Amino acid sequence: MSEVGTLLAGRYRLERRLGSGGMGVVWLATDERLQRQVAVKELHAVLGADPAAAEEARQRAMREGRIAGRLNHPNAIAVHDVTEQDGLPVLVMEYLPSRSLADVLNEQGPMAPEVVARIGAQAAAALAAAHEAGVVHRDIKPANVLIGEDGTVKITDFGISHAADDISVTKTGVLSGTPAFLAPEIARGQAPTPSSDVYSLGSTLYTAVEGEPPFGADAENSIALLHQVAAGTIRRPRSAGPLTAVLNRMLEADPARRPAPAQAREALQAAASGRPPADDLTQPMAAIPPETTAPTAAAGSQGTRLDNQPVEQPARRRKPAVVAGVAAAVVLIAGILLVSLLTGGQEQRPNRVAATPAEMERVVADYYALLPEHTGNAWNHLGPQLQAEGRARYDSAWEPVRSVSIYSEPTTTGRNTVQVGVELVLQDGTRVRELHRLGMLVGRGTPRINTDGVLSSETTAPPPPPAPPQREGDDEPEEKKDEEKGKGNSERKGEEDKKGENG
Ligand code: ATP
Repeated sequence: MSEVGTLLAGRYRLERRLGSGGMGVVWLATDERLQRQVAVKELHAVLGADPAAAEEARQRAMREGRIAGRLNHPNAIAVHDVTEQDGLPVLVMEYLPSRSLADVLNEQGPMAPEVVARIGAQAAAALAAAHEAGVVHRDIKPANVLIGEDGTVKITDFGISHAADDISVTKTGVLSGTPAFLAPEIARGQAPTPSSDVYSLGSTLYTAVEGEPPFGADAENSIALLHQVAAGTIRRPRSAGPLTAVLNRMLEADPARRPAPAQAREALQAAASGRPPADDLTQPMAAIPPETTAPTAAAGSQGTRLDNQPVEQPARRRKPAVVAGVAAAVVLIAGILLVSLLTGGQEQRPNRVAATPAEMERVVADYYALLPEHTGNAWNHLGPQLQAEGRARYDSAWEPVRSVSIYSEPTTTGRNTVQVGVELVLQDGTRVRELHRLGMLVGRGTPRINTDGVLSSETTAPPPPPAPPQREGDDEPEEKKDEEKGKGNSERKGEEDKKGENG
């Protein structure tokens, strides 16, 4: 694993870790050949993939990185180079001293519409150039909008999400990353298009001005949320002022009714400077019933209809999710989701009551303190949505986990949403650090954990076993050594049996 001081590709010296996300770790590095600072993104391995799939992902990453490298625009982070480290793709990008829009929103809360409009206009300009160059971003979200120290806005990760295949619901049902900013057609399994980027930018700007994504923050990264996204039912913006018209158009469920990025840019610029938006953006608004959206497309090609649904209509009943525990569970979740999308389901009232942050945080801390040993008690902390997965599946998701500890204390990040960082040590010594966003079910009685989304995950392989010490007994007869070995094994076996009983 790379660390500070590592030299990548013989020229990029890693200086400081800038952060990490679902796809990889980002470093500040010095390009020693050109003597300039760069940002280096090391993509994670494709967890659980067979060697052929991993090789395919690696090649795709290299290819997509090169395609993204063609894009040259002042509002897009440039990709300078694509290389490899330990067989994994590494992208070398322009470094922008900045904070992501996600970080700014986390710290400061929602922004004024005019400020958001200025950010949006720059981002839309980058999208227009990218689409012209044949690059679809596929993962526009607040974390990928960087705001430089001088206020310049640049979109990062162009082409990378495709490279890592991280965000689309693929034919194998693999999903990771947050669906909160996906366009409805992508949530239904269709291929990303320039128009889906416009939608995701609309969701991003909506979040900046409203304080939560268009589908709510209760269930980020969950099946429930993806289902809502697929249905295209948004909460209409309430605090967007001059941005309202353009946001509504960007968030049209029907891709054909969304503006092109250049049109969106103009409208956003107008909103930023207090001018009325262009006519063609205001006109069609009357055609949208004020409290509904109209997703007309069939779900995928399977012929499942997702009919009009009123705003804030209860989400359809979710198919079950397991608490992630290990990354493989994310794959499972997406697989289940596809089934859910295709089969529909019954209705369920969403969660609308507030609990005190301290109360929710205590429940989350208590929950992880019970794991992995006391899955029975932990189970009682879960709401119906997670419990719908079934007890047996829940228990088996925790089976490979030896211990659980909290590395980032539970913190309330939104209404009925708690974020927590947990470290899992698996039976083979592998460490998995996961940042979870939990949607809490709050009503009468103790809050319960109803949805569970993994915001980021980092896996550290177990340390290699220590070399056997050179012992005096090494020149003992072979039979004696065998006896010793046998004893060691049976003692270890005894310990394992004990663990099994406890678990
Ligand atoms: P992901 O897109 O992988 O799901 P993410 O978007 O949340 O995750 P990363 O892209 O991994 O996060 O970025 C991690 C951190 O690195 C962020 O805090 C971001 O601000 C910073 N960062 C990313 N790219 C650059 C860059 N080109 N210059 C400066 N900082 C960057």
